Amino acid sequence: MFYPEPIAKLIDAFSRLPGIGPKTAARLAFFVLRMKEEEVIDFAKALVNVKRNLTYCSVCCNITDTDPCRICSDKTRDPSVICAVQEPKDVVAMERTKEFNGKYHVLHGAISPMEGVGPDDIRIAELVKRLGDERVQELILATNPNIEGEATAMYLSRLVKPFGIKVTRIARGLPVGGDLEYADEVTLSQALEGRRELF
Ligand SMILES: [Zn+2]
Repeated sequence: MFYPEPIAKLIDAFSRLPGIGPKTAARLAFFVLRMKEEEVIDFAKALVNVKRNLTYCSVCCNITDTDPCRICSDKTRDPSVICAVQEPKDVVAMERTKEFNGKYHVLHGAISPMEGVGPDDIRIAELVKRLGDERVQELILATNPNIEGEATAMYLSRLVKPFGIKVTRIARGLPVGGDLEYADEVTLSQALEGRRELF
């Protein structure tokens, strides 16, 4: 099946997205073709803006449109607790629980020797810098409960030990091998509540 070039290009663009096969890509492309022009322009603008108008928070490394981000500049949040997560979407998952009122640190990945990701490849140096702030009393390690997440938690707990900060790991309730972003609010609240100190 040969499509005219504009539609073929759009199908190709959609099929580069995760979880989108050629059939779905074609369906989406033809859907776009039937959309109103203003809607298509808004859609295209949203795509471009996500690259142009987002940056990384200079404090917590989360994605943001203001620097520092809204959470870092929120004076009502407790600066004595930092919750380290792997991805920006994990911050969203944690915020949904409404249980946590501290600050975050987004690592942007996890240590994975298998995939050649070492401590220097994720935002660990930025985290360590923040721990020099004497207000920080606890670091919660909320990395995913899988091999990479555990390895990262282990690494961080050893690294942070000399700072004399309490290091805890979320645990109870989260399925082993699961991803934080897929956990429901109750499970994630329990996991946060049942965090334990790491030695
Ligand atoms: Zn921030």
